[in-house]
Amino acid sequence: MSNKIGVHALVWVGGWSEAESEKAIAATAACGYDLIEVLLLDPQSVDPVATARQLESHGISATTSLGLGVDTDISSNDPDTVARGEALLNDALSVARDMGASYLGGVLFSAVHKYSAAATLAGRRNSVEVLARLAERAKASGITLGLEAINRYESNLINTGAQAVDFINETGSDNIKVHLDTYHMNIEEEDPATTIRECGDLLGYFHVGESHRGYLGTGTIDFKTIFRSLIDIGYTGPITFESFSSAVVDSKLSTALGVWRNLWSDSEDLATQAKSFLDSELYAASQPE
Ligand code: MN
Repeated sequence: MSNKIGVHALVWVGGWSEAESEKAIAATAACGYDLIEVLLLDPQSVDPVATARQLESHGISATTSLGLGVDTDISSNDPDTVARGEALLNDALSVARDMGASYLGGVLFSAVHKYSAAATLAGRRNSVEVLARLAERAKASGITLGLEAINRYESNLINTGAQAVDFINETGSDNIKVHLDTYHMNIEEEDPATTIRECGDLLGYFHVGESHRGYLGTGTIDFKTIFRSLIDIGYTGPITFESFSSAVVDSKLSTALGVWRNLWSDSEDLATQAKSFLDSELYAASQPE
């Protein structure tokens, strides 16, 4: 397989100061990954020029992601909240462009938050409209957007791959793709392999996470079947390992994701194991049975 293999920044660091980004980028390259996923929850805290320089010097590339907060939720019915969310997404897009990234994904469509009611039609329309405008601006910079289907406890708008496809069709944009994640699919999808096939060419980004978000291969995800279906559809996009522990904490995200306990404490050991697991499982899945 020719996919770029990536690792999420939160495997290494909880923030993105110049020292933190140097540490994370150097460690990502040393473990043999092709890319690092940089978290843009707070785009203004990121120096994209410094990051671009560090990426170049270590010979890897970056993708970017974020999840909106309750006060920047573009699926809100409140116009001021929607406007704050659109401003944050525009800032993130500029930072992504300036660090040389060609992908901005994650939960761009709602807050990462346990909602107490279903999404409203008006809120959904707000989200569709903001993302259609963002996609136009992204296209001018050669950036693809990704909408990550996440579980019901973290969003009320896009929980499945099929819902992501419907939402993307509503935007009418051709540079918004589906972002799938094995951890979330394990909770929400009837059959992850079928979901992958049904997304087909619209699949643009793939997160690999265990059922408990710890070490790969120690939970209940059927990676073999999932990787075979990625090969079946000819998926050539990034495959990025994502794992969270209270050992490395971004306080905003950790609270939103419910990271209450340690699943690991040694970033390097975790990332090394994940890279070797991905290499061997992807190779095995590409061989005839
Ligand atoms: Mn994910």
